[in-house]
Amino acid sequence: MADCMYCNETHEKRAELLIEVGKLPHSTLFILKNQNHLGRVVIALNCHRTELFELSEEERNGYFADVARVSKAMKELFNPDKINYGIFGDGVPHVHMHMVPKYKDQLQWGHFFWDKGEKEVYLSDEEYAKMVADYKAKLGI
Ligand SMILES: [Zn+2]
Repeated sequence: MADCMYCNETHEKRAELLIEVGKLPHSTLFILKNQNHLGRVVIALNCHRTELFELSEEERNGYFADVARVSKAMKELFNPDKINYGIFGDGVPHVHMHMVPKYKDQLQWGHFFWDKGEKEVYLSDEEYAKMVADYKAKLGI
């Protein structure tokens, strides 16, 4: 799966969009470089599957256990008013979920999240490094 950015660690798009936080039992956690929702991450299944029905029961339960673990870490680190969860995959079909912290009366509150046309927010290298370290510490990975 050389053309899949979640399978191929050296994929050009992966380095452009994401920073790897680390591995969980059934998934790999990434920070999105565009942090217009502070704390936003993507959690990708560790094996290449395109639809949820293709996962074994163990993979499915394990993946959602990882998602729940990350959502708790996100709540504790950033205290969002709500976390949005999105599985799309039109462009990159490998099962991955966008986990987007939403803050009351801020960007897209009360609506689904989207990227097109919104101002992008990039952090300094130190700020990304701190966010990675904070997630790692919270998740014990
Ligand atoms: Zn893949």
